[in-house]
Amino acid sequence: MANDRQTVVLITGCSSGIGLKLAIHLANDTKKQFYVIATMRNLNKKEQLEAAAGDTLNKTLHIRQLDVCSDESVTECLNSIQDKRVDILVLQVKQRHAREFLEAWHSNHNAINKHIDLDAVYQPLRKRTGNDITTNPRNPIQEKDINRKQKKTASLHLEVTTDDVTKPVNNAGIGKIGPIESLSIREMKSIFDTNFFGAVRIIKAVLPDMKRRRSGHIVMMSSVMGLQGVIFNDVYAASKFAMEGFCESLAVQLLKFNIYVSMIEPGPVNTEFEMKLMDEVSHSTFPGTDSETVQFFKDVYLPASRDIFATMGQTPDTIAEATIKVIKMERPVFRYQTNILYTPLTAMKYADDTGNMSIRMFYNLLFNHGTCFKISLSCLRIVTCSWFRSGAVSPN
Ligand code: NAD
Repeated sequence: MANDRQTVVLITGCSSGIGLKLAIHLANDTKKQFYVIATMRNLNKKEQLEAAAGDTLNKTLHIRQLDVCSDESVTECLNSIQDKRVDILVLQVKQRHAREFLEAWHSNHNAINKHIDLDAVYQPLRKRTGNDITTNPRNPIQEKDINRKQKKTASLHLEVTTDDVTKPVNNAGIGKIGPIESLSIREMKSIFDTNFFGAVRIIKAVLPDMKRRRSGHIVMMSSVMGLQGVIFNDVYAASKFAMEGFCESLAVQLLKFNIYVSMIEPGPVNTEFEMKLMDEVSHSTFPGTDSETVQFFKDVYLPASRDIFATMGQTPDTIAEATIKVIKMERPVFRYQTNILYTPLTAMKYADDTGNMSIRMFYNLLFNHGTCFKISLSCLRIVTCSWFRSGAVSPN
C-alpha cells in the first residue's frame, strides 16, 4: 500500500506506448514519491510492462485490470484500491497540507498516528475565523495556521487516507483515420466510447472521493487534434475536441474543490498507435468512398502523415517526462503542448477567428504546394538533426 508521503497515480492504457512509459518513469522516481496503479484492458498484455518495471513491480508500480468502456471494470478496479485503505482523512485539509503537517509532525515524533487534541489545534482558529473549520470545507486548515506550540501540545487522533487515487491519468485511447464514407456510425461510436465516454466514466468514478478530500488532479492525454482538426482524422479529432470541451467546462467547477484538470496535448508520437492505424488502412478497400477521395487519402495524406511522424514525431519517453512535469506542478496548468514544432500550427487557429487561415494553410500545403511541404519537412529534419525522431514507426 502507498505510504503517507506518496501520491497515488492511476493510469489507464499502460500495456503500451505513452501509458507504459509514464508508469515506468513515475515508478522509478528516485524519491519514491509515487504509488503507481498502472491499469490495462487486457492483463494478458502485461509482460512488456512487467519487464520494464523490474524491481519497482509491486513496490511503486502495481498492475490492475481496467477497461474504460466497462462500468463494472472501473468499479472493480477502484474498489480494489479502496479496500486497501488503512486510514481515513478526517481533517478537512487539502491532502498536500495533510502530508506536510504529518511530515512536520513525524520529524518531531517517531510514529505518525499520534493522539493529538483536535480542539487544541482548532480552537484558536475557530476563534479567529468564527468558523467551524473542521466542517467548513471552504476554509481548510493549513500548516501555516498551526503554530509550533499547538503542534507540540496537540493530541488528536489523526487518520489519513493513503490509498486514494489522487492523480488519475486518462491515457487510454484509440485512433481512426480514413474517409468518413467508409466508416460506420458504429465504428465512430466506438471511438467516442473509449476516447470520450471512457475518460468520463473514470472521472465520474473518482470525483466524489476527490471532492470529499478537496484534492486531486485529473490528467487527460489529449492531443493537438483536440485543438485543431486534421484531414482524414475527423472522428478521432472530434473525440478529442469533445474531451477538451468537457474538461474545460469541468475544470472551472473543480477548482472550487481544489481539484486540477490538465490536458497533455502531444503532436505526433512514435508509438504503436500510428502503426496500428497504418496497418488498419493498409487492409481497407474504403467501401462507399469515391475513387478521387481514396486516391487523395492514399497518395497525398498517407505519405504526408509518414513524413510528419518521421520529422516531428516525439518519443513516448518525452511525453512521459512532459506529463510528469505537469503532475509535479504545485498549481498545474490546464493545457500543455509537448511539441514546440507543432505549436505554431495550433497558434494559427487562435490568430484568426474566422478559422480560414489554418484551413487554407493545410489545404494549400497538401493539395497545392505538396513539393514545397515535403522540402520544408526535409529541411526541418536536417535543422533538428532528427532530434524529434525516434525512428519512424509507420509501415509503408
Ligand atoms: P497506444 O496504442 O500504444 O496506447 C493506447 C493504449 O490505450 C493501449 O495500451 C490500449 O490497449 C489502451 N486502450 C484502448 N482501449 C482501451 C480501453 N477500452 N480500456 C483501457 N485501455 C484501452 O498509443 P499511445 O500513442 O501511447 O496513445 C496514448 C494516448 O495518447 C491516447 O489517448 C492517444 O489518443 C494519445 N495521443 C497519441 C498520439 C500519437 O501520435 N501516438 C498523439 C497525441 C495523443
